[in-house]
Amino acid sequence: MEVLTTIAAVREFVEGARKRGQSIGLVPTMGYLHEGHLTLARTAREQNDVVIMSIFVNPTQFGPGEDLERYPRDLERDKRLAAAAGVDAIFAPSVEEMYPSGYATYVQVEGLSDVLCGASRPGHFRGVATVVSKLFNIVQPDRAYFGLKDYQQAVIIKRLVRDLNFPVEIITVPTVREQDGLAMSSRNKYLSPEERRSALSLYRALQLGTRLIVEGERNAAVVREAMTREILSYPDTRIDYVAVNDAATLEPLDAIRGRVLLAVAVWVGGTRLIDNMIVEVKDDVAHHDEK
Ligand code: AMP
Repeated sequence: MEVLTTIAAVREFVEGARKRGQSIGLVPTMGYLHEGHLTLARTAREQNDVVIMSIFVNPTQFGPGEDLERYPRDLERDKRLAAAAGVDAIFAPSVEEMYPSGYATYVQVEGLSDVLCGASRPGHFRGVATVVSKLFNIVQPDRAYFGLKDYQQAVIIKRLVRDLNFPVEIITVPTVREQDGLAMSSRNKYLSPEERRSALSLYRALQLGTRLIVEGERNAAVVREAMTREILSYPDTRIDYVAVNDAATLEPLDAIRGRVLLAVAVWVGGTRLIDNMIVEVKDDVAHHDEK
């Protein structure tokens, strides 16, 4: 596996692959790899001749006072895991390589970026859309892989690709969970043993919301309230948002119908965690949907 740190080196690597007629899959990450990332990599491995994984803790998607400096990093471990998952090249640039002094251009996906995590983290999705656009231009992949753990991010990236005519297919991969249901996340490392127990509240609330809808509840406020109570029954939890929204527009629902996004953001001690589930209500019959 190659480890590339400059844009020029990536372009050269990609040019070689293209000359051989090989297809390219890109897996963008911030590193500190876990099974979620590795599932994206393995999916890319199955669908492409060449797999490139970017590992870059992108400063423009962190707000002031967020965890940019203490975000976990371990490139040596990431290299081993990525190689074992079949990654052909890691792109691990410096901040200066991606944002040289005088950098001034940003990509903003309006509307979709202003709700849910975008409301709590102003500028976050502008940073995400910008770095993903840059990665698409640098790597020019045939396919790029994103996890549904970050559901809003996946919706925004799909809109970005459509609106700016990027010639890339976006593939989404279901959320990979720990045995007890906690969504895997690099930030889970921050949790103390007690907080780790309270972190399960997100999954439990989503399960409860899904069950209520499957059992026939159609009032979104009732579902939100039940999920909120469930989360707050765990110690050290503080709610950022509990949302029952349209899965396509991301707008809040009053009556539950169609493809519904149940999404939660919860502070567990000093760590902000997110998770979501999709419930499809068709002809008034609901089922949980992991696609
Ligand atoms: P991150 O390194 O957290 O920015 O995540 C990089 C990519 O991995 C994003 O597309 C995430 O949605 C995806 N990802 C992170 N956690 C998971 C998970 N538990 N299951 C599936 N995909 C994930």
